[in-house]
Amino acid sequence: MPTGHCLCGNIRYAFDAPLREPVICHCKQCRRQAGNGWASVSVAEDALTIDGPVRWYRASDAARRGFCGDCGSFLFWAGDGEGEIAVSMGSMDEPTGMMISQHIFVADKGDCYHLNDGLPQRDQ
Ligand SMILES: [Zn+2]
Ligand SMILES: [Zn+2]
Repeated sequence: MPTGHCLCGNIRYAFDAPLREPVICHCKQCRRQAGNGWASVSVAEDALTIDGPVRWYRASDAARRGFCGDCGSFLFWAGDGEGEIAVSMGSMDEPTGMMISQHIFVADKGDCYHLNDGLPQRDQ
């Protein structure tokens, strides 16, 4: 069962199985919050157990972003009514057993890096 935690360890989580392969999102919100592309994997909401005081920031009228109020780790992204939560790959305990499958929101990617790993790129 994949597990992970924030930098300070106050928030820990575990989940049963991912719904899809991990992706890296290059949208402006992820870049601001994560420092550039944010790697995550989608998990069914009811398959995810979170232990700790997650703070949720509503960055848009369609989704909220969960982070640790103590250390600032950006851990979760939850679209309204989707029934699933994206969990940050960087906070996961290794080995994750997963590999990034594609880049998304590449149209919004930053101008200070190239994407040349050969993975599929989607504008949205
Ligand atoms: Zn923390
Ligand atoms: Zn994003």
